[in-house]
Amino acid sequence: MNKLGNMKTNITLLDKDGIRCDGRKIDELRKISLQVGILKNANGSAYIEFGNNKILVGVFGPRDVHPKHLADTNTGILRCRYHMSPFSVSERKNPAPSRREIEISKVIKEALQPSVILNKFPRTVVDVFVEVLQADGGSRCAALNAASVALADAGIPMKDIVSACAVGKVEDNIVLDVNNEEDQAGQADMPVGYMPNLEKITLLQLDGILTPSEYEKCIDVAIQGCKIIYKIQKKALIDKFFKGDIA
Ligand code: ADP
Repeated sequence: MNKLGNMKTNITLLDKDGIRCDGRKIDELRKISLQVGILKNANGSAYIEFGNNKILVGVFGPRDVHPKHLADTNTGILRCRYHMSPFSVSERKNPAPSRREIEISKVIKEALQPSVILNKFPRTVVDVFVEVLQADGGSRCAALNAASVALADAGIPMKDIVSACAVGKVEDNIVLDVNNEEDQAGQADMPVGYMPNLEKITLLQLDGILTPSEYEKCIDVAIQGCKIIYKIQKKALIDKFFKGDIA
C-alpha cells in the first residue's frame, strides 16, 4: 500500500539486495552539483542539480518593498516565489502559479526565515526567486539548498545555512533522499530543512504514515543527509568567494 492508500504498483522500489530503483543504497543521496554566483543581474544566485532536478535561484535585496503597505518599520521581510517552468515536467506545466507552487513558496520562505537576520534593514524586502527548470521529486529541498547559498551570495546576514533533503519510507525501509518514483509510489515522504551549526530544524513536512520509531529514524537519517549537503554548500560558497567570481 502506498501513501495514497493505493495498492502496490509494478515498480520494484527496493530489490532483495537493498538497491533502489535508481541504483542507490537506502542511505545514499542523489548526485548533487551546486554553483554560486551565476547570474550577473541578481544580487545573489545559485544553480543546483540534485539528481535530475535542475533549479536556478536569484536573490534581490534588501530593496524597497512594493506594494508599500507590506513594509515593516521594524525589520526587513523575506519573500519567496517557487515557480516551475512549463518544460520542467513531462506534460507542459501551466506557467500560472498553481496551489502547489503557492504552498511550496510559503514553505521555502518559512524554512529560510529563521536563518536570516533582517532587523537591520527595516522597510525593505529580500526576494528569493526559484525557477525549477527540471523537476524530479524533492524539488522543494533542492530549491531550499540553492536558495540558502544564494542568500549568502547576496551578502544577507545569516545565522546559519539551511540544508535540506527528504527522507521516506519505501517497502517498509527508511530511505534517504526520495526520488520521483519513490515519492509517487512509496509509503511516506518527509522533507526536512536543517541548520547544521545551530542544530535546528526549519522545515518538516510529512506525507504518509510513520510509526513513532520510524519517525525518529527519519529525522536522524535526514539530519545525516543535511550534514553532507551542508559540506557541498560550503564548498560552493568557498569556490565563489576564494577561487574567483564566476559572474
Ligand atoms: P517535491 O518536488 O518537493 O517532492 P511534490 O512532492 O509536490 O514536491 O512533487 C513531487 C514531484 O512531482 C515533483 O518534483 C515533480 O517531479 C512532480 N510534479 C509536480 N508537479 C507536477 C506537474 N504539474 N506535472 C507533472 N509532475 C509534477
